[in-house]
Amino acid sequence: MTKLLFIIAVTIALVLWFKHMGRPRRDLDAKKQHDVEDMVRCKVCGVNMPRSEALLAQGSIYCCEEHRRRDLG
Ligand SMILES: [Zn+2]
Repeated sequence: MTKLLFIIAVTIALVLWFKHMGRPRRDLDAKKQHDVEDMVRCKVCGVNMPRSEALLAQGSIYCCEEHRRRDLG
């Protein structure tokens, strides 16, 4: 009798575990999509843009040549 109860308990635990495992994978996918964007912020005007469109100069990030010149002189 104790053996049967143990088997039932293990079965319930496994079902709950499988249900739980399904969720974090969706969160991980959402995080992955967020990382692909990789947005950066202009030091002068604060506008957000993809890293590929940003200007990098002396460790700072700018949205355009004009803002880079305004900050660095
Ligand atoms: Zn700017």
